Amino acid sequence: MQKVPTFSKGGVHPGDKKVFSRSQQIERLPLPAELVVSLSQHLGAPAKALKAKGDTVIRGEKIGEASGFISADVHSPVSGTIKEIRKVTLANSVCCDAYIITPDEQQTVEFAEKFDWESQTSASLLSQVKDMGIVGMGGATFPAHVKLSVPKDKSVDALVVNGVECEPYLTADYRIMMEKGEQALLGAMIAAKITDAKRIIIGIEMNKPDCIENLSKIAKENAYPIEIIGLQMKYPQGDEKQLLKATINREIPSGKLPLDVGAVVVNVGTCNAIYEAIVFHKPLFERVISVTGECIANPKNILAPIGTKISDLLAYCGGYSSTPEKLVSGGPMMGFSLFDVDTPMAKGSSGLLALPSKKAARSTACLNCGRCVAACPIGLMPAKLYRNIINGQYEEAMKISLMDCKECGCCSYVCPAHLPLVHTMKTGKKLGRKKK
Ligand code: SF4
Ligand code: SF4
Repeated sequence: MQKVPTFSKGGVHPGDKKVFSRSQQIERLPLPAELVVSLSQHLGAPAKALKAKGDTVIRGEKIGEASGFISADVHSPVSGTIKEIRKVTLANSVCCDAYIITPDEQQTVEFAEKFDWESQTSASLLSQVKDMGIVGMGGATFPAHVKLSVPKDKSVDALVVNGVECEPYLTADYRIMMEKGEQALLGAMIAAKITDAKRIIIGIEMNKPDCIENLSKIAKENAYPIEIIGLQMKYPQGDEKQLLKATINREIPSGKLPLDVGAVVVNVGTCNAIYEAIVFHKPLFERVISVTGECIANPKNILAPIGTKISDLLAYCGGYSSTPEKLVSGGPMMGFSLFDVDTPMAKGSSGLLALPSKKAARSTACLNCGRCVAACPIGLMPAKLYRNIINGQYEEAMKISLMDCKECGCCSYVCPAHLPLVHTMKTGKKLGRKKK
């Protein structure tokens, strides 16, 4: 029997907990009374504001312009009036300017299938991906036009699509693969045309057999040149490094990118956004978010405008069924704890989780058990890094590859002493960068 592929080094098996929202079809959120649209929803420099207080905007209009090579345009999710521009703090603790927009009655701008992509050049497709403000929707929010721009001295032969969704609870990508599968496949083909990749491979974990079946059927019926690969369930398989190893058996050396091994990795939600950008001329101003967890009354997968407040998402799901211990933006392994229900969702918001209390686990001293080393998918020594960082030995930590840490949380997940390992890695990386 053929072995189901996965990556080789480290990784963990958290329960998938997708049962809460998995069967919930995507629902469109009724328009909120107010939206908070930030100018920093992507990795890189914040966008430059193009509008002022009192201006009117229409749905899909550009309201923020990319302000550097790594940056992305921002578009209004609604037609309405800009009530004010003020500083807000996002889920990832970034503080930036945001438009407060009051929607009006004129939500008449619609986006429909009307443009052909096959007759367009790669350069034209790439420039539209930039103009529509597309960023990586798996959470990384790297501007898609930068990722798809292949430098002259490099070439790409494989476009690998991340359909893994390995974080527990999240089901937004699952629903996209079930309900918008054809769009996602065509979006992958557009991305392959832009990068000149000859192969398209989609990796999907085996806890989503219906997605594998659905996408395989669509690809077969339409003779799309796409390979769909079922992968073992293992976290963090959605990371580019682990996904390339699992799907095409390529290793990205330390400090290098997928491009250095002839590959580009794109999330399946991003493929769907690329399709809508090119074929509908629709900017990225709304996305599917899973609102789920043990404490949500009616878990759902919601198509919501960017800038929707967490409180509006919670209200649409009937609020809490029991008091949560914590609210998380994103998945439980790599997401951010939320402290304010007025925080707005952004382009990278894949999930909103309301999680119950766990029995308090008190930190003890390191037991030298080595579990963190076995779990680290990068092959680092988390216990040693932890010791270096808490003792202020940043240079020592850098020497043993602290900067290669992906902040995946596998070490914290397995540590029987409950040491705050990933939190310490994040702090150590920040302080280490400053000391450089
Ligand atoms: S958080 Fe960093 S050190 Fe910990 S397992 Fe992940 S990559 Fe390794
Ligand atoms: S898993 Fe925790 S207790 Fe075990 S070696 Fe690593 S840091 Fe120490």
